[in-house]
Amino acid sequence: MTSISQHAAPSDAFRDETPWDVGDDGDTLHEECGIFGVIGARSASSVVALGLHALQHRGQEAVGITSFDGGEFFSHRGIGHVAHVFKNQDIFADLPGMMASGHVRYSTTGGSGLRNIQPLFADLADGGFSIAHNGNISNAMTLKRDLVHKGSIFQSTSDTEVIIHLVATSRYPTLLDRFVDALRLIEGAYALICTTPAGMIACRDPLGIRPLVMGRIGSSVVFASETVALDVVGADFEREVEPGELLVVDHNGVISSHRPFGDPSPRPCIFEQVYFSRPDSILGGQSVYQSRRQIGVELAKEAPADADLVVPVPDSGVPAAIGYAAESGIPFELGIIRSHYVGRTFIQPGDSKRHAEVKRKHNANRALVAGKRIVLIDDSIVRGTTSLKIVQMMRDAGASEVHMRIASPPTDHSCFYGVDTPERSKLLAARMDLEAMADYIQADSLAFVSIDGLYRAVGQQDRNAKCPQFCDACFTGEYPTHLTDYDADAVAGETEA
Ligand code: AMP
Repeated sequence: MTSISQHAAPSDAFRDETPWDVGDDGDTLHEECGIFGVIGARSASSVVALGLHALQHRGQEAVGITSFDGGEFFSHRGIGHVAHVFKNQDIFADLPGMMASGHVRYSTTGGSGLRNIQPLFADLADGGFSIAHNGNISNAMTLKRDLVHKGSIFQSTSDTEVIIHLVATSRYPTLLDRFVDALRLIEGAYALICTTPAGMIACRDPLGIRPLVMGRIGSSVVFASETVALDVVGADFEREVEPGELLVVDHNGVISSHRPFGDPSPRPCIFEQVYFSRPDSILGGQSVYQSRRQIGVELAKEAPADADLVVPVPDSGVPAAIGYAAESGIPFELGIIRSHYVGRTFIQPGDSKRHAEVKRKHNANRALVAGKRIVLIDDSIVRGTTSLKIVQMMRDAGASEVHMRIASPPTDHSCFYGVDTPERSKLLAARMDLEAMADYIQADSLAFVSIDGLYRAVGQQDRNAKCPQFCDACFTGEYPTHLTDYDADAVAGETEA
């Protein structure tokens, strides 16, 4: 049997957490993550660190890498950015082997302790098993309750650990069969990279809600959440892992594809196109940058404004603002300058921290905006924190009018599939109509792109064309899977603040 040697970043300590804890702002445990794996590469762990670096935007709280040297598994995990946790090059000497996988994560308060940092690892009947997961399992609590009742002892509060216990307790003869058996029991969204002594398994849930791509560096095989990570490690993009597909790669580079779920119609997450993926990634054959630019074009057609300047909220609003400016003929200018030493503001648990971050992150370019009518473009409004501050910032800098245009429809519903959104009662669009939202953020006018405009921008005819349909539950409330752990009231949301 293989074993694992674990290293933790020295500053980390196990935090005492209530299983399935709720954050201090009442949000349930959600995660946003990036995953990366390579098999058949020299210094595999350092390739993974580089890949995770390119996926840092997907999660900034914690990072972990697990490697396998043909006999033993090794792991290093810590809280912080990739560059911080893996700053000391000597760490890679402690992560030997030609196969490694890794994970960057963000979790809301209550789930960020060391024991939740992935890849998770267990010694199973066939040997070591590590798992890195992007997504959220929507019946994990229900399955966990049952497993605990039958004697399973959980080490973390992560939904991902349920998969390990399901594999461990499955009665099927081979590891692959037991893995598939486990997947058949789970609902929700998952892109997974697992390592076993026999090799690597990469898979996506039947609807392909979360992304996962495959590439090659020479004879080594690479899997990553986004193509940008392939670019950064010098891998050639080969193809997406298809929705519902399991790819098994052995140490000789032999790949087998399995489709245990038949051929369901995919529903990839449309919010990856709107915000989450990096603009230099290709998702579903579509350049994310082009999608966002095109959303701006649609927005300009649907919601024109009489203004002097188009100003993006950097960085998330930039491609859409370029599209809006091109379509409207209004000049694009950088009326807000962003500090690059502050990360994603949303990705900071707790409201007060988030408020402070917004202020540190953006500053008005006074010389440009004073006396001007501004069209401000951002990708989305969630709680309204950013918009309120930015509109105010434009006014303080002397803008004569501020028209807010949003490159997605109103975010009216929570995501249960691994994009962190707060409970519904905290979503501005769930609490207010358009006019009240405009009043709240103190804009002279406010408009969102329509859901059909968004579908057109990502290359579809309209939302009902179904070729493919996306998961757009955050905008429509139409959830494409069961949500067993969440009762109807939680899904419908309490809309009184
Ligand atoms: P808020 O300030 O709560 O309205 O959040 C909106 C801002 O957060 C926008 O500028 C987005 O760029 C960003 N954002 C939206 N959704 C997310 C998410 N799920 N994770 C991280 N950032 C987000």
